[in-house]
Amino acid sequence: MPKTCIIGAGISGLALAWQMQRTGGDCTILETSSQSGGAMHSFRKGDYLAEDGPNSILLNDANIENFLYSIPGLKERIVEAAPEANKRFIVRNGKPHAVPMGPISAISTPLWTLRGKLRVLKEPFTKAIAPEIEESVADFVRRRLGDELYKYAINPLVGGIYSGDPEKLSLRYGFPKLYKLEQTYGGLIRGAIGKMREAKKGDAPKVRKRIISFKNGMGELPEKLATALGNNLNNDVSIQAIRKVENKWQVSWNNRSAETFDQIILTIPSHRLHTLPFDSDICSQLSFLETIHYPPVSVLSLAYKRKDVSHPLDGFGALVPECEGHKILGALFPSSLFSQRTPKDEVMLTVFVGGERQPELATEDTEALKAIVCPDLEKLLGIQGVQTFCHHKHWERAIPQYKMGYGNLLQKMKALEKQNPGLHLAGNYRTGISVTYCIEAALAFSANRLLKTPASASCNG
Ligand SMILES: Cc1cc2nc3c(=O)[nH]c(=O)nc-3n(C[C@H](O)[C@H](O)[C@H](O)COP(=O)(O)OP(=O)(O)OC[C@H]3O[C@@H](n4cnc5c(N)ncnc54)[C@H](O)[C@@H]3O)c2cc1C
Repeated sequence: MPKTCIIGAGISGLALAWQMQRTGGDCTILETSSQSGGAMHSFRKGDYLAEDGPNSILLNDANIENFLYSIPGLKERIVEAAPEANKRFIVRNGKPHAVPMGPISAISTPLWTLRGKLRVLKEPFTKAIAPEIEESVADFVRRRLGDELYKYAINPLVGGIYSGDPEKLSLRYGFPKLYKLEQTYGGLIRGAIGKMREAKKGDAPKVRKRIISFKNGMGELPEKLATALGNNLNNDVSIQAIRKVENKWQVSWNNRSAETFDQIILTIPSHRLHTLPFDSDICSQLSFLETIHYPPVSVLSLAYKRKDVSHPLDGFGALVPECEGHKILGALFPSSLFSQRTPKDEVMLTVFVGGERQPELATEDTEALKAIVCPDLEKLLGIQGVQTFCHHKHWERAIPQYKMGYGNLLQKMKALEKQNPGLHLAGNYRTGISVTYCIEAALAFSANRLLKTPASASCNG
């Protein structure tokens, strides 16, 4: 059983540490901040509850469900999104339209023109591209579904998930499941049908697909993990040195004598890796990881009296396509998703600004941000009146972008790990950005537990 040091207590590090600990592993986790959770943090003030980072988790995998249930005291804290949260809106001509959920609504929706809809019918007849060709998300969607579906479906979706630019994101690494659908089944529609058939036939444990959070917000997940980890989790840590000594790793922190580990797993953001006190040759080997771009994003949560908002907010949220020319990337409707986010007669919106699309609009200045956001909310959702609550979180470096050329970076990461046995790179720049991907990767790492990096540990590998 290798003795493991995990650096970074965001969800990637915490999930890995807990899975190792509960399956008998020996691990120590080191976190610089006094608080664990990294991007996962909730803010409570009286009856208001806002999120700084992720708002929810899509639960559709039995392994993730079992993992969450294994965390002491977490199961009874889980809250499920209201059924209408299934409805998502995309703005067209200044108005939010519900994204069709089935073939009939797909025919009647005003979100796409007849021409755009007819173009989708060509998708099953579009040839798959050679697997070695790296294609951007935008090129892939235009090739398979046409320009209109790109503009009024995928462009806003990528803005919502990655705060990213689909022209720059790599399909293969940014959306590996879509890439695999084309490569395995020949297309998206064929792939969707194939997957449904396999799921019906297969004996994989079934889980009810649902969107979840926790009674006190997403921050409860890292809080409960931190409690479960007990003394194995060290916060407020200042790491003095990390040395490779033969095939072991000596780590010293907080002026204590160095401890020796068989392996060390780095789960901190890629742009922070070069600050770790490795010997200079490893520092320089890690420096290429600084090139992974994390654009800035400002997250503004605003509450209003229900009567001051004309839109029913009957869904998950509304995304704004780039071509519509608004300043916000989109707005989530957290008080429609989950109860007890505001006092009874109020609603909350969580608005995202900046990203790859308009990084210059992301700002630390709350009043300047409101001046950007409120006119868009007024036009798109009919919001008037004053806010009853405001919470602002500015992320100078928000979400890592799996851009074109990411495959080369991945090769370099693998080479670095090969050259330094027992050193592993994890975290959302490596294993996928969603919370579920971070947990999936932790489960895969822990299952292998070997000093060699398991190929399956990287969703993007
Ligand atoms: C605004 C926003 C909204 C999002 N929305 C969603 C969503 O709705 N659903 C979803 O699934 N995902 C969402 N995500 C993505 C998801 O939250 C992140 O990808 C995930 O939480 C990243 O976890 P991580 O552990 O890999 O990294 P991080 O959360 O960045 O954690 C890294 C940790 O390392 C620590 N650290 C840094 N330097 C050092 C050091 N030198 N030594 C020790 N520790 C160090 C940090 O303090 C931090 O705790 C969102 C992200 C953001 C920013």
